[in-house]
Amino acid sequence: MQFYSTRDTKRLVSFREAVFRGLAPDGGLFHPASDLDLRSEFLSMTPETTFTEVARTITSALFADELSAQQIDRVITRAFPFRPELSRLTDEIYLLELYHGPSCAFKDYGASYLASVMEEFLAGEDGRAVILTATSGDTGSAVAHAFYGRSNIDVVVLYPSGRVSPLQEKQLTTLGDNIHALEVKGSFDDCQRMVKQAFLDPELSETLRLTSANSINLGRLIPQAFYYVYAFSRLKADVPGELFFCVPSGNFGNLTAGVLAWKWGLPVTGFIAATNANDVVPEYLETGTYSPRSSIRTLSNAMDVGDPSNFERLKTIFSDDVDAMAAMIWGEVVSDEETLETIAHFRVTENVFVDPHTAAGVRAAQRFIANRYPTVGTVITLGTAHPAKFGEVVEEATGMRPDIPERLERVLDLEKKAMPMDNTPGALKEFLLDTFRD
Ligand SMILES: *Cc1c(COP(=O)(O)O)cnc(C)c1O
Repeated sequence: MQFYSTRDTKRLVSFREAVFRGLAPDGGLFHPASDLDLRSEFLSMTPETTFTEVARTITSALFADELSAQQIDRVITRAFPFRPELSRLTDEIYLLELYHGPSCAFKDYGASYLASVMEEFLAGEDGRAVILTATSGDTGSAVAHAFYGRSNIDVVVLYPSGRVSPLQEKQLTTLGDNIHALEVKGSFDDCQRMVKQAFLDPELSETLRLTSANSINLGRLIPQAFYYVYAFSRLKADVPGELFFCVPSGNFGNLTAGVLAWKWGLPVTGFIAATNANDVVPEYLETGTYSPRSSIRTLSNAMDVGDPSNFERLKTIFSDDVDAMAAMIWGEVVSDEETLETIAHFRVTENVFVDPHTAAGVRAAQRFIANRYPTVGTVITLGTAHPAKFGEVVEEATGMRPDIPERLERVLDLEKKAMPMDNTPGALKEFLLDTFRD
């Protein structure tokens, strides 16, 4: 498989090049240049098919021309010592729990696979790679954990000061070693813009081997398709009626990966894009006009994105045709008030804690089912973070704090080590050159 930029579909690159460049030189996003047809592979999977087998099937179909079977095995075994769990929340709603990895959020899947792939490509070469990533919270901790201690790779994480949860900040800033945390005075959009500008800076790209680990990186996007297929293989025998996935969305990487799985043959009726008040995509689906704007702060802060970077990929998949996109993706906007109500409701009725992002998804799924009753059979809602990661919000909603998994608890006692930074590209460039130029 080869890949092109969403802005120049003529120049093709390898997976390796796409992974190390992160962003295409023209500012676009790398994307598969041709379609795969894996329908018969997907249909022959059963509830006994393991997550690792799903990962191997898709990885081989995409990358067998660049990685040997042995390398693919190594990449997958190293990447996934954890896997998703499926639980039933209501008659129609299943929760695909994606928070059993090291940082307790779904971004562990993409980050861990990317780290494994890079390690495989870099083995036996000299030269260091510098991963530059902006985070609204969960990306950074997943990336930091995935790359921590890996040889030949440094990670620089930019996060918006005061806008990530206290626990997220600890996860980002306490690892040290090859993980460098920058605390930016500004919003997530500022962080994202600084990173984009660094990648477009000729001096930086000549001096350093800069690469991204954001959801714009193809090596993070692809593995996120695996769990859609896995969830389908687990449930397909008992799913009556139409099957939908509901995806709590911010930068739209997770949803885009699901849409790719559908393009490759996953039999799914459609997707629900659940957003908080940052609703530019639902608005586009309704009006056909895309108006990016500054992000608004909400309780589901990892979804506070005013100009989602993966929107460009979605447009590419649907050939810029809003009607085609709207035939496959439904937007649902969920307020903070509804999010709190939903967290409280499931604590009381099912004795289950959900985090605010997952809660926005569940609320969107409920509304969608009510509006389309009775045709919807099943909505698999992606559980994007462990409730203990957002204990403050969960406590606000329920009066109780969920138990903290041991792997999260450990970081709370460690000391924060972050460098404060102004939100200018110049400040970032100076830091990068000072720290990493030979
Ligand atoms: C990142 C994140 C999201 C949004 O995912 P995108 O791929 O950016 O749309 C939702 N929930 C949580 C907990 C996240 O960390």
